[in-house]
Amino acid sequence: MKFDLLRSCKSIRRLLVACVIIMASAGCAAAAAEGNQTAVARLSSAKVANGQVTVLEVNLRDRDLAATDLKARFDQNAIALFQHPLKPEGIYCGLVGIPISSTPQKTVIKLEWTDSDGRLQSASVPLRIVEGNYKKEALRVAPRHVKPSPKNLKRIKAEKKEIRRIYTSSSDTRLWYGNFIKPLTSNTTSVFGTQRLFNGELQSYHRGTDLRAKTGTPIYASNSGIVRLAKNLFYSGNIIIVDHGKGIFTNYAHLNKIDVKAGQHIARGDQIGLSGATGRVSGPHLHWGVKINGAYVDPLQFMIVISDLLAQ
Ligand SMILES: [Zn+2]
Repeated sequence: MKFDLLRSCKSIRRLLVACVIIMASAGCAAAAAEGNQTAVARLSSAKVANGQVTVLEVNLRDRDLAATDLKARFDQNAIALFQHPLKPEGIYCGLVGIPISSTPQKTVIKLEWTDSDGRLQSASVPLRIVEGNYKKEALRVAPRHVKPSPKNLKRIKAEKKEIRRIYTSSSDTRLWYGNFIKPLTSNTTSVFGTQRLFNGELQSYHRGTDLRAKTGTPIYASNSGIVRLAKNLFYSGNIIIVDHGKGIFTNYAHLNKIDVKAGQHIARGDQIGLSGATGRVSGPHLHWGVKINGAYVDPLQFMIVISDLLAQ
């Protein structure tokens, strides 16, 4: 009887241990232990739609780790990590943007670091991508913006290259502070992610939020940062791209007037230009885009994620 009781106790203990491990992976906490080193990571939400953002938090407190060595990666893109704005030193976070082109799947965020014995350690944080269910819309724009001439195709190619270079070289210093604000107080006229048919032909995803703005409405910077681009592009018209550091960019397109220059430091709320109807548009408005570590995301959902991060 005694023996049986002991055996049942051991089985129950084994079962409990198994449950804890399962709960840890289901609850998006990853614990990787090799040797004496353990990194604990979690996501603000482990179930994210394509085109949305989730926050990765890595706790390296009291772990005697060279934090500068810690690297996070998702879908080939490095996730820039920074000291958590509110939490004690040694707790890092990074924003993970899920590309709009991602299909629903179970995947992981990979972490790598070197422990104090110089050994490379790694961990995986489980993530589930779900369908964002974005709508479709048809728009009428100038024919030259649907079937560009060979000269314009060359221009588009050069501009794509220029933009890619900007978006892959974010400042290693966090330049943003506090919440991100909408560039103007106005209604949304077209949401992020909508699949678009221009003049019934060309298809693309809407990679920003359109805000109602008649030509000449002042546009304000969402947060502080450095202006990386301030010029006219074929599709975006007059556009400003701001680098907020650590992989976060915002852009402001179809402007009538640009009030800033590339390389200029700006603060949240600074007027950076006036709205307009330049580039591929069906009328005046502001296109506001947010790009996080290589992925365009829903600016309005991004604002909520940052607000939650700062409210912890
Ligand atoms: Zn737009």
